[in-house]
Amino acid sequence: MAYDDTNIFAKILRGDIPCTRVAEDDHTLAFEDINPARAVHVLVIPKGAYTDWRDFAATATAEEQVAFTRMIAHVAELTGIAEKGYRVISNIGRDGHQEVPHLHMHVLGGEATGPLVDRS
Ligand code: 5GP
Repeated sequence: MAYDDTNIFAKILRGDIPCTRVAEDDHTLAFEDINPARAVHVLVIPKGAYTDWRDFAATATAEEQVAFTRMIAHVAELTGIAEKGYRVISNIGRDGHQEVPHLHMHVLGGEATGPLVDRS
């Protein structure tokens, strides 16, 4: 899938629309989800134009991949959920119910996160 630079996270990265920033480094941005599903709900995104894991794993630099991984742990520490536990989710593609076609991780916690997936 070609990267669509009109997606909402691309607009956030360009500064076209605001976000509530949690943390940032040269390669990665973390910000609060606009519609939080748990007491803590932070989105972690690479600053590069990657649609999903296949794209990021195949084409991002090692430096970008390390920064992304470390930012997830950093966000858990910053938001105070690292000790009690939390969930990290990445929705990919149609079956994964990915709404925004820019790679992102949901970091959820601050309360029990519930079952892994809906089994109904
Ligand atoms: P997905 O279903 O693609 O994994 O999740 C996309 C997430 O982006 C959703 O949790 C949704 O609430 C969040 N989101 C959508 N639009 C915006 C926005 O404009 N700002 C922020 N901060 N989050 C957004």
